[in-house]
Amino acid sequence: MKHVIALDVGGTGMKAALVGADGTLLHEARRATGRERGPDAVVESILSFAADLRAHGEEHLGESAVAAGVAVPGIVDAENGIAVYAANLGWHDVPLRDQLGERLGKVPVALGHDVRTGGLAEGRIGAGKGADRFLFVPLGTGIAGAIGIAGTIEAGAHGYAGEIGHIVVRPDGPDCGCGQRGCLETLASASAVSRAWAAASGDPAADAADCAKAVESGDPAAVRVWQDAVDALAAGLVTALTLLDPRMLIIGGGLAEAGETLFVPLRAAVEERVTFQKLPHIVPAALGDTAGCLGAGLLAWDLLSTEVSA
Ligand SMILES: [Zn+2]
Repeated sequence: MKHVIALDVGGTGMKAALVGADGTLLHEARRATGRERGPDAVVESILSFAADLRAHGEEHLGESAVAAGVAVPGIVDAENGIAVYAANLGWHDVPLRDQLGERLGKVPVALGHDVRTGGLAEGRIGAGKGADRFLFVPLGTGIAGAIGIAGTIEAGAHGYAGEIGHIVVRPDGPDCGCGQRGCLETLASASAVSRAWAAASGDPAADAADCAKAVESGDPAAVRVWQDAVDALAAGLVTALTLLDPRMLIIGGGLAEAGETLFVPLRAAVEERVTFQKLPHIVPAALGDTAGCLGAGLLAWDLLSTEVSA
């Protein structure tokens, strides 16, 4: 059966699938990146994982994959197939597309940025299905964004578009790893809420999920921490929607798992701030942590359809 390889590379783990033309997942697998062995070992883990997936297709699906899509973290030059920079993998200028092409019998390979690739899947087959203009914002360790326009994701001139986590929402706020102060992700990421709630509750092990539970039980200290994060998030999102006018805001990542505990106050806080802007639908992401892998499959199939039509 005709299929492609989809691979989503995270900091510590990789998720992969063999995906049919109709999006069916024909095989799924996970493997560690082995990043403790250094940046080159991660590249080798990816290449050998891809080769094993190709072999699996030959053995169980009667043919080898016709293309591959790979999502990686950090800065990605998708046009030239280069993983430019990834702090968590120690990468600089890895020509991953060509390396994978070599290992996979010279089939076409698409390389994508993890969040933009996840956003592609959310926009086409997930929460934003059919939305012509959307913004996907996962709230995890950090905050990133994917700008969806007519079925594709805007990467920007240099591969930096959508970095909503580094919009400054509190100029006197905490230092951010990017060199600015008061970036959205220092205030409203799952990690930021975990830190704030650990400090406020006096329990160093308490995290954002614990904070959400305490909010649901009416703990006033938790409500304060939560509302601070929601206010910062609303400020950042209003900046984004003022620029982009999306039809849909898709919020994902660990913090969105709080469900309506997040979405009810967030919708209210955004609504309170807008004046002339049109309110987008603010909805939870639908694909969870499989979005990157599903998006990588879409990248691979997209690549084949453009090659056929070219
Ligand atoms: Zn920043």
